[in-house]
Amino acid sequence: MVNLEIPTDHPRRVSLEIREAIIAGHTDQIVATAGLLAHGRGEAFDYLIGERTTEIAEKAIKVAVASILLAKHPVISVNGNVCSLVAKELVELSKITNAPLEINLFYYRKEREDAILRALKSAGAEKVLGTHDRPSTTIPELSSNRRKVDPDGIGAADAVVVPLEDGDRTEALKAVGKTVITIDLNPMSRTAVYADVTVVENIVRAMPLMVRYAAEMKNKSVHELQKIVESYSNDENLSTSIHLISTRLEELSRDVRVLRKKTKPGENKS
Ligand code: ATP
Ligand code: MG
Repeated sequence: MVNLEIPTDHPRRVSLEIREAIIAGHTDQIVATAGLLAHGRGEAFDYLIGERTTEIAEKAIKVAVASILLAKHPVISVNGNVCSLVAKELVELSKITNAPLEINLFYYRKEREDAILRALKSAGAEKVLGTHDRPSTTIPELSSNRRKVDPDGIGAADAVVVPLEDGDRTEALKAVGKTVITIDLNPMSRTAVYADVTVVENIVRAMPLMVRYAAEMKNKSVHELQKIVESYSNDENLSTSIHLISTRLEELSRDVRVLRKKTKPGENKS
């Protein structure tokens, strides 16, 4: 639900629409207040990568999908930001890959969990793990509510997709031997550097591609999928992503005029 009227020719329309979706999620109790700040950090890094899917991000997406398809028990962790931005795609990816969705919140509130559950159900989810009326187990090395996970979900998973996740959680999941796949626009965040596969991309652009690749790659043999994963280095992926940012900044520092609107006022009006 978007409240703000954004003109179709507004140069930052897409970014504003995404922002409106997060604000609507906050109003609906899906997004935590700190989630608004996390979104702002993401926007800043999206500016730096040029708000587009880079070649290296697309490669990481294929590796992420291959890792999910290879896992015996993959699980997709859902928080408020992710739910408010890509609920439909989460459900699609979950169905194609047989990876259940688990609600797992950094800032736990029952109202938030209920609101996320409702949103996932209305996006087509049948079963959602990690809700308060299910039993929970704990991940060692994390304090309080943040250690609670579903024993049939993240608790038993060999691979966990944790988009827009906090670094402590990622480290804790790694410490108990899970394969961690993330989507994170900041290639320097702790999550980005501790994960096994980091897709440095806006989740709004990444998820539809993941769904598409999952549908395409689903019938590949285990051997073919293993080849995709084995040829990949996440450190190289992060280095390249950081290098892309630094080269882009270098180029812009020589000529900022390219940042000005490509169309003159009125040119886009029909
Ligand atoms: P860390 O704890 O990993 O060091 P952090 O404390 O800065 O990172 P968190 O709030 O814990 O950040 O995690 C949110 C992460 O999600 C941030 O790195 C942020 O840049 C990223 N992010 C926010 N919005 C998006 C988005 N739409 N797509 C992809 N990544 C995003
Ligand atoms: Mg953090």
